[in-house]
Amino acid sequence: MALLTKAPKGTQDLLPSQSHKNQYVENQMLEIAGNFGYKEIRTPVFEHTELFHRSVGDTTDVVQKEMYTFTDKGDRSITLRPEGTAGAARAFLEHGLFNEPLPQKVCYLTSCYRYEKPQAGRLREFHQFGVECFGTAEPSADAEIISLADSIFAFLGVTGLSLEINSIGCPECRKNYHKALKEYFAEHKDKLCPTCLDRLERNPMRILDCKSPVCSEIAAGAPVVIDYICEDCARHFETVKKYLDAMNITYRINPRIVRGLDYYTRTVFEFVSEQIGAQGTVCGGGRYDGLMDELGGAKTPSLGFGMGIERLLLLMEAQGVDFPEAKACDICIVSAGENAGLKAAEIAFDMRNSGISALTDISGRSVKAQMKFADKMKARYTVVIGDNELESGKVIVKKMSTGETEETSLETLAEDFMSISIRQSMDEIGTALDGIDINGFKI
Ligand code: ATP
Ligand code: MG
Repeated sequence: MALLTKAPKGTQDLLPSQSHKNQYVENQMLEIAGNFGYKEIRTPVFEHTELFHRSVGDTTDVVQKEMYTFTDKGDRSITLRPEGTAGAARAFLEHGLFNEPLPQKVCYLTSCYRYEKPQAGRLREFHQFGVECFGTAEPSADAEIISLADSIFAFLGVTGLSLEINSIGCPECRKNYHKALKEYFAEHKDKLCPTCLDRLERNPMRILDCKSPVCSEIAAGAPVVIDYICEDCARHFETVKKYLDAMNITYRINPRIVRGLDYYTRTVFEFVSEQIGAQGTVCGGGRYDGLMDELGGAKTPSLGFGMGIERLLLLMEAQGVDFPEAKACDICIVSAGENAGLKAAEIAFDMRNSGISALTDISGRSVKAQMKFADKMKARYTVVIGDNELESGKVIVKKMSTGETEETSLETLAEDFMSISIRQSMDEIGTALDGIDINGFKI
């Protein structure tokens, strides 16, 4: 029975008391990305497994250990997306978005699935805000995408994140680096975990990303990729830094960042916090110039980032950042008896259609209990409709915070309420401004 009332390990419910925070954060993200020219894309929650093998890479932790893969009834191997870039890149190729003006800028809010050890900031179902900029190799694009993440944090009032950047070069520079890594790790062969022993042959860079304590200790002494990058890549990286400087974005070069997905080339970056424990990377991304050709498309230099929504919210809570209040109930229409109930339903329907949030009794409560409920719902106003009101055609609208009342007509209540509430709010603003001096004029 416990299985019926317990969500699977590593998943989280988002409850009504919290969801307005996520909505706020997500709406801001979409809006800010919109200012940078990004439009939303939605892709399926599952894809052909092969897509992730090809893009994320089959020597990565994500593919080797973390994917939710199953065979469907048509005998296809299907995987729940562990990240968002592969699906967006697949859609770019499938729908010929390369024929549209480049770069194509897309963004998304998606759930991702990874079979990991759940802990604070690490879930099996988590959510990402991601952006992808397809079809530009220019370093100004790298700086712009970093500035987009920076703008989101700034707008949301998140502080203290450190931006760490690195360049991991192109496949050309990678050859020399792989050679250096192989030589280094070969000396520690007897201590590497079995997965890393295999990686030593196939993709030694992945050892740098291994979570096993022994491997990571060995990796800490390994040669760093930035010492092996070619002239073109070095120049590219220098220009990215110039653009970041021009925008006054502070960064730190961290030669140890390699990122956990195979498709990255050249610029990689992370925004890291020290305030949310071991899982401190709130946003990670970089350039992936070879991904599209790996997927069978034409060469399309591209870049993107993924921001973990849960980690961002953990950080915002830890920093006590202000969230706007959830939309309150504007008015609770209390009714006594069947006829009043019908009238209340009619008025509430009209009010809701003009953007007012109105509640009526749909639980058969007494007038007293309805008033109590209005209090619990933190209704800004109440109005009571009973036989008297139906007869006289007059109702009294009451402001709950002050007890202030105003009489109006039952027939025009839906229209009048908006102006009553606006007028009273203006009065409040007026009172708050009383005595304030603006440009030498006393209000
Ligand atoms: P980590 O090193 O923490 O495992 P990652 O390099 O695997 O992160 P990415 O694949 O780059 O992460 O994903 C981008 C962002 O998504 C991360 O920076 C993080 O904020 C978030 N994220 C990744 N995995 C998880 C997870 N299991 N639970 C919650 N958030 C996650
Ligand atoms: Mg990971």
